[in-house]
Amino acid sequence: MLREEEFDVVVVGSGAAGMTAALTAAHHGLSAVVMDGAEVYGGSTARSGGGLWLPGPEASTYLKHVAGDEVPAARRDALLEHGPDVLAFVTAHTPLEFARVPGYPDYHPEAPGGLAEGRTLEPRPLDVRRVAEDVGTLAPPYRAAPNGMAVTAVDYRWLSLGLRHPRSALTAVKLAAGRFRGRRLTMGQALAAGLRAGLRSAGVPVRLGTPMTALHVSDGRVAGVATPDGVLTARRGVVLACGGFDHNERMRREHQDLGTAWTVGAAGNTGLGIEEGQRLGAALDLMDEAWWGPSLPLTGGAYFCLAERNLPGSLVVDGTGRRFVNEAAPYVDVVHTMLGRTGSGPHLPAWLVTDRSYRDRYLFAGRAPRAPLPKRWFDAGIAHRADTLDELAERIGVPAEALRATVERFNGFAASGRDEDFGRGDSAYDRYYGDPRQRPNPCLGALTRPPFLAFSLVPGDLGTKGGLRTDERARVLREDGTPVPGLYAAGNTSASVMGRGYAGAGATLGPAMTFGYLAARDMAG
Ligand SMILES: Cc1cc2nc3c(=O)[nH]c(=O)nc-3n(C[C@H](O)[C@H](O)[C@H](O)COP(=O)(O)OP(=O)(O)OC[C@H]3O[C@@H](n4cnc5c(N)ncnc54)[C@H](O)[C@@H]3O)c2cc1C
Repeated sequence: MLREEEFDVVVVGSGAAGMTAALTAAHHGLSAVVMDGAEVYGGSTARSGGGLWLPGPEASTYLKHVAGDEVPAARRDALLEHGPDVLAFVTAHTPLEFARVPGYPDYHPEAPGGLAEGRTLEPRPLDVRRVAEDVGTLAPPYRAAPNGMAVTAVDYRWLSLGLRHPRSALTAVKLAAGRFRGRRLTMGQALAAGLRAGLRSAGVPVRLGTPMTALHVSDGRVAGVATPDGVLTARRGVVLACGGFDHNERMRREHQDLGTAWTVGAAGNTGLGIEEGQRLGAALDLMDEAWWGPSLPLTGGAYFCLAERNLPGSLVVDGTGRRFVNEAAPYVDVVHTMLGRTGSGPHLPAWLVTDRSYRDRYLFAGRAPRAPLPKRWFDAGIAHRADTLDELAERIGVPAEALRATVERFNGFAASGRDEDFGRGDSAYDRYYGDPRQRPNPCLGALTRPPFLAFSLVPGDLGTKGGLRTDERARVLREDGTPVPGLYAAGNTSASVMGRGYAGAGATLGPAMTFGYLAARDMAG
């Protein structure tokens, strides 16, 4: 029999946006429920690095620069005005605590208002005993750290340097010793589990295995959500916080001319929230965008590259055998260039080229320095190895002369410390994931020692960032600017307040939580 249950607020999706919305609603005296189609909670949030970019109004000039004119000032201002409150609110009502990620720059630190010391926060490691009741239904991380170690974003930076820096060894020892302190959650695992614990304390039910099948409309306003078991009625409103269209092949092809193969977003993010909003007349923005990042199309799923592109002894070429971008630039920007959205291009296929020194020194796609790379990568044509650059060029189908000339020129830049073509290592952002022991430029190293390696590089993403148009109160808007009554959206179901840019690590989760918070506050009146 179909059931009908009534709440003030129905939240679709149990990621950072949805859980923050429900937590806020509950602490403003409203009854709320969170529903998620997956059998686990946390969505992409649980898979993420858990970084949060939540500065105050002092970041106004910078955010305007990053987000550009497509994003109304009122939304940008709302993020900066309320972001710090969200942090205080979440800290007060969950077991979460946050710490700065020291020195992790804004992604455009040299832009007006950008900060080289950065603004990113991350959750402090969270003792699993504090979230024990819900740890069994927490969505798994993107990549689990070995032996259950509690790796933070700060740790990752040092671990990526292999054995090149004393801090790397110290970090490895600290992590190994930390295992004796009991299991602790970090990054997105901590964020999702901490928010869930807050909901439990506030008495907010989280219904897993409960997909929204449609929005329910009554008397011209959104009045609830249909599920296979019945309707969850919403007296005040519905918050669509059900992620982007990461895994919707048809929407991806229609709006982006790319499929779903290279996303690392949560499997449950199929875009229904956006389609339902659109069905009720909502306008859509930024549908051709995603939280892009150059990725390795590994056999078990895409690997989103971070430090791999910044570390010295690597470069990226396209099918002509020539470089086309500052490899160490922020990941969204690199893919914009790969896709030909900015500058020349498109530049596909693309190859990350390295040599033996690079492989012997640094972590690569989670593999320890010197550790053999899986044979299946080579069998699948994702990785290639050769004793000479000419041979490597032949394997990957680029002109040998061009590749040789590219490496020779790049090696000259490594010696002088100046990348005269693309300025790699000029920005504090590039250098954050560089090798501080590499002189004169921490991002530039010569490729000289065979075997040489090439890895296929594709335009992957952390999820999509286009979706329902919303205002500064997170209300879903029609093309004429009027709100769809009773309907709110936050996180990747809504078009991002970052526009086509990316302000810094945490620039997706910070706004997702803030607009979830603002949606609930609006409903609370
Ligand atoms: C590996 C990785 C690392 C990342 N690192 C960072 C980082 O450090 N900082 C940062 O800011 N961002 C990061 N991101 C991006 C960030 O995680 C996402 O942008 C963010 O989690 C989106 O939050 P959300 O609340 O919108 O959606 P999600 O967290 O994806 O939650 C959406 C939920 O909705 C559910 N859902 C979907 N459709 C339905 C339906 N029809 N009915 C019911 N439920 C539904 C899904 O099952 C899912 O659980 C990372 C992402 C990944 C994958």
